[in-house]
Amino acid sequence: MTRDPRYDILFEPVKIGPVQAPNRFYQVPHCNGMGGLRPRMVAEMRGIKAEGGWGVVCTEYCSIHQSSDDLPHAYASLWDQGDIKAHALMTEKVHKFGALAGVELWAGGSGAANLMTREVPLGVGSMPNMAGHPFQTRAMDRKDIRDLRRWHRAAALRARDAGFDIVYVYATHMYLLSQFLSPLTNNRSDEYGGSVENRVRLVRELIEETKEAVGDRCAVAVRMSADDGTETPEQPVSEDRRAMFEILAELPDLWDVNIHNYEHEMGVSRFVKEGSLEKTMQYVKSITSKPVVSVGRFTSPDTMVSQVRRGIVDFIGAARPSIADPFLPRKIDEGRADDIRECIGCNICYTGDSLGVPIRCTQNPTMGEEWRRGWHPERIEASSSDATVLVVGAGPAGLEATRALGQRGYNVMLAEASTVLGGRVTRESQLPGLAEWARVRDYRVHQIQTMSNVEVFLNNDLSAGDALSIGADHIVVATGAKWRSDGFGGYHTKPCMDLGAAEQIFTPDDIFAGRLPKGRVVLFDDDHYYMGSVLAEALVGQGVEVCFVTPENLVSAWGVMTDEQYQTQQRLLELGVEIITAHGLDAFDGSSASLSCVYTEQTRTVEANAVLLVTSRTPSDSLYKEIAKEIESGAPGSSPGSSPVPTRSKIGDCDAPAIIAAAVYAGHRYARELEADVNKDDAVRQDRLFD
Ligand code: ADP
Ligand code: SF4
Repeated sequence: MTRDPRYDILFEPVKIGPVQAPNRFYQVPHCNGMGGLRPRMVAEMRGIKAEGGWGVVCTEYCSIHQSSDDLPHAYASLWDQGDIKAHALMTEKVHKFGALAGVELWAGGSGAANLMTREVPLGVGSMPNMAGHPFQTRAMDRKDIRDLRRWHRAAALRARDAGFDIVYVYATHMYLLSQFLSPLTNNRSDEYGGSVENRVRLVRELIEETKEAVGDRCAVAVRMSADDGTETPEQPVSEDRRAMFEILAELPDLWDVNIHNYEHEMGVSRFVKEGSLEKTMQYVKSITSKPVVSVGRFTSPDTMVSQVRRGIVDFIGAARPSIADPFLPRKIDEGRADDIRECIGCNICYTGDSLGVPIRCTQNPTMGEEWRRGWHPERIEASSSDATVLVVGAGPAGLEATRALGQRGYNVMLAEASTVLGGRVTRESQLPGLAEWARVRDYRVHQIQTMSNVEVFLNNDLSAGDALSIGADHIVVATGAKWRSDGFGGYHTKPCMDLGAAEQIFTPDDIFAGRLPKGRVVLFDDDHYYMGSVLAEALVGQGVEVCFVTPENLVSAWGVMTDEQYQTQQRLLELGVEIITAHGLDAFDGSSASLSCVYTEQTRTVEANAVLLVTSRTPSDSLYKEIAKEIESGAPGSSPGSSPVPTRSKIGDCDAPAIIAAAVYAGHRYARELEADVNKDDAVRQDRLFD
């Protein structure tokens, strides 16, 4: 297929100072939980983005010196010769596909606690640590500033030697340079504080010095936010910030513009939709003649074209869309926009950084596994057998297994009990704000529909006998899980026996099935991710009064990992939900619930007509167990002429209930490893430089 001419503009080359990007697709710096700790994993992942058509591929934040250390969050670093070698792995792979490689030089300020290097962190003033670590910064004196400039210059030279084409001055995300810029954090009385000219001085010096050091070969980019946190609804961008852009306008070769509020910039789709930065950052292009890049979780080529044509940006910046689909540009180029695996905005990718572990993605199960397992997002080894596979259950696990097995060339039968595909994704995408989650289903269904070797059977609630009688060589069960109605979870490690009449007890599955509580409900959230809070929102929308009880100290505490916790709690407060934290639900007698404090064990009662339990799930693995039993009892294949004994497996939530990303991953892994020569005990390679 050929490209739709409407999208030609996206494939125009764009000059950035001394270098030229082959097109307008720009993977902005994004963290990935690998950084300097796992250089080969990063290099392979970034190289695949270049292969997929991203014209610029950047690193994550890259420390210029030991005084900026963010462990346990895995940042990159350019401290020495070893780091140059590590980054060269990446730049080589990026260059191989004709893309430019960018590096985001980073100085942490009060964002860095230096837990590993134990250097005293340097700040615009003596400031508390941003993440709450009990380490304050030292207010930088003139010598510290001179040192910082020297380190930045040296890191820029190392970046050039590592093969980078674009070198960043990173002046946003509340790190050191943005703290110098901001009137909220810069309280200095010397030539680096006070007036706009003074606060912008350090950034200006760094731009000039970076250009002087490497500007003949490398473009110098500045990443800076269009607003600064002092805005009002009447004035969405402060005069102060605008003046800064005017002072610096023509100094860098490229502007990478974001917004001050990180939770909004990379907000989950529940709260933030595509293209949401535009209204704040759109003025920047009127101030500079230099190319501008910005993000907005763009997955629609029409939106991208509109952004360029309307003069909002020159480059389509992307982190998450490039994670969910490293081949997004190639697919547009080849007239296959329908094949794009669109990001769903769940921010599971961000948990890699939050937790200091390699990145994963709900939509793209190969993300982070490019080097470690040798998985490519678009290519998969063809099967050499003519075996047939029966997949039971069409949730994310079953759909991904079917898609990937179909891609390998297997004859696949997918049986689904209900009349719709998608399993939990179909159900959950109907909850407030989660509509985009249906993309997990839609991408896979679209792919499967084009495969002549895949048959889908809806409305087929299979028994073990049914499954075995089909005579498939392999049976993989992906029948999901059910929410428990007995309170079992982290708080009650044995089922809670004092829950009263069953008709007043609800689980998320009841709500999905349209069985709603009446009156006031106590929602007991012992799951701690999105389900409790999103159900609270759904119930309030249906006129149900909700009292939200959690043993944690925060609503949806695990949402800290996906950077949505703050907005989640804010949403429930705005909706008038009563929130009781640090309490467990002990009993319910039909009209009141008994709660106890997790610290003091003091009890209290709250009135309630019903209880909604969001605690944990039971794997729906009875079909798998029956199949196993029948096989073990010798039913199939036991007598001459009967069907051969199939292999049996279970994947996804029916194996171990977890996040959607885990179900997709399990489906993908099953498909990759079926009849393949993989040592499952030893399939994960360690990224160590000495092996
Ligand atoms: P996962 O997240 O592991 O993919 P889901 O709960 O999303 O699991 O999906 C499981 C799917 O399996 C549901 O769509 C459900 O209707 C289907 N299913 C459950 N039992 C059977 C069965 N016996 N035969 C066919 N499909 C089944
Ligand atoms: Fe998008 Fe979720 Fe994948 Fe992140 S994990 S790229 S938000 S689909």
